[in-house]
Amino acid sequence: MRKLCTAFVLALGLILPAAAADRPNILFVFSDDHAPHAIGAYNGWLKSVNPTPEIDKLAAQGMLFENSFCTNSICGPSRAVIQTGKHSHKNGFMNNGNSFDWNQQTFPKLLQKVGYQTALYGKSHLKGHPQGFDDWMVLPGQGLYYNPDFITPEGKKMINGHCTDVVTDLAVQWLKEKRSDDKPFMLMVQHKAPHRNWMPAERHLHLYDDIEMPEAPTLFDKWEDNTLAAKYQELEIDGHMDINYDLFLDLTADFDQEASQKRQDRSAWNNMKRMSPAQMKAWRDAYGPKDEAFHKANLSGDDLVRWKYQRYAKNYLRCVKGVDESVGRLMGTLEELGLDENTVVIYSSDQGFYIGDHGWYDKRWMYEESLKMPLIVKWPGVAEAGTKSTEMVQNLDYASTFLDMAGANIPKDLQGQSLVPLLKGEQDGKFRDAIYYHYYEYPSVHMVPRHYGIRTERYKLMNFYQFGAWELYDLQEDPDELTNIYETADKELVAEMTQKLEDLRKHYDDNSHEPEYSLEKKKEFWPSFTK
Ligand code: CA
Repeated sequence: MRKLCTAFVLALGLILPAAAADRPNILFVFSDDHAPHAIGAYNGWLKSVNPTPEIDKLAAQGMLFENSFCTNSICGPSRAVIQTGKHSHKNGFMNNGNSFDWNQQTFPKLLQKVGYQTALYGKSHLKGHPQGFDDWMVLPGQGLYYNPDFITPEGKKMINGHCTDVVTDLAVQWLKEKRSDDKPFMLMVQHKAPHRNWMPAERHLHLYDDIEMPEAPTLFDKWEDNTLAAKYQELEIDGHMDINYDLFLDLTADFDQEASQKRQDRSAWNNMKRMSPAQMKAWRDAYGPKDEAFHKANLSGDDLVRWKYQRYAKNYLRCVKGVDESVGRLMGTLEELGLDENTVVIYSSDQGFYIGDHGWYDKRWMYEESLKMPLIVKWPGVAEAGTKSTEMVQNLDYASTFLDMAGANIPKDLQGQSLVPLLKGEQDGKFRDAIYYHYYEYPSVHMVPRHYGIRTERYKLMNFYQFGAWELYDLQEDPDELTNIYETADKELVAEMTQKLEDLRKHYDDNSHEPEYSLEKKKEFWPSFTK
């Protein structure tokens, strides 16, 4: 018996180290609200600005997923889906008001079980102390842009600097000082940027001062052929973006005054009051003259929308620039440590975003701009450099993918599919023929009604079920989703898509469905509702 045991231990000793060396490290760089069309490699309408040279470099070294989608377009829920590999109704985190049950199965816990060293730095947005990580430091809630606090296993800690730089520093420090040479690692670097309210680092305050940002082709969309859902939202640059709170107009000039403090939304104020005198001076120097010019110009109507758009898009892309530089630093660190050849680097963001598209900011909708997530994977020697996949993939697939990369078992209750066959160029047939989506936060901030739906390669069907309102789009003929063809389309097509939606709801075991509102309640939210 002892002999047998010894032989077994010896065999293990021979096999395990070799297997461990074969397994790749995983560096997951994740940002917040970074839309694919704000990445050069995605060839969107902001490409001419050259917003992301470092992320573009990553794409040139790996595979870019053109049809990468979230399952629920909002911060916390997207992260919960990634942690669990399960849709929101299964992992329990359906909207930002929920709390994540960290006691449930997550992919980092499963990676730890097969010998991975794991760490998480930056925005978690899942509340509570993270589980499944050997090392972690996370922002409380949304976190702050300047001199942010972190929740750590030892308590709260404030670190000076711009949040994107601080999170990168923590990750670089972990790679250099805390990483074990004996284990493969999985490191999650999760930025707050470019989330609202879009506060760039000091060194980026003047970036893009000398150019006009291109405008979204649908900046002045009037949502004439959508359901009323698109009309009665509250995320318009024109009507809802706050000129002070979101765009800092006059905020740097009079922020010392008590009246001003009361007037401003806490989020902007909480961020700005953290600044050091030097940081505040840099902000005043950057925005003071621009504010003065704005007051002199006395803008209104479309001109005012254009001004707001310019200020917003520039701040958004300045924050993106910080994230892009972070990607460059992390790649450089991997090279410096000789880890670049055996590390899979992933760049993604929790959902897409409206950068003036349809006249909006924010996310939530199943429309393309916020449904899409960037996904770029560099896997040296495995994924062919500079390739693009058009298969429909989702954040739902990440957990299965990471487990597959690590050679771990993929539990049966995960709802995604591993992307490894796609990355290896070994996918046999279509990856999937439709994706499923479900958004839950209503009535709530920005007033985007609850909806679920499916997207196939060509069509998208959405059901705003509280209002009994359906939308169907032909993405081939109408990529901007300006004309809802639900009433006019071929009845067979509508029936086929409706059946497909029901099939997917069954497949993912989603029975969650709030009852339809009464006519009175519909009219309360949508005053021009008639039937
Ligand atoms: Ca987000």
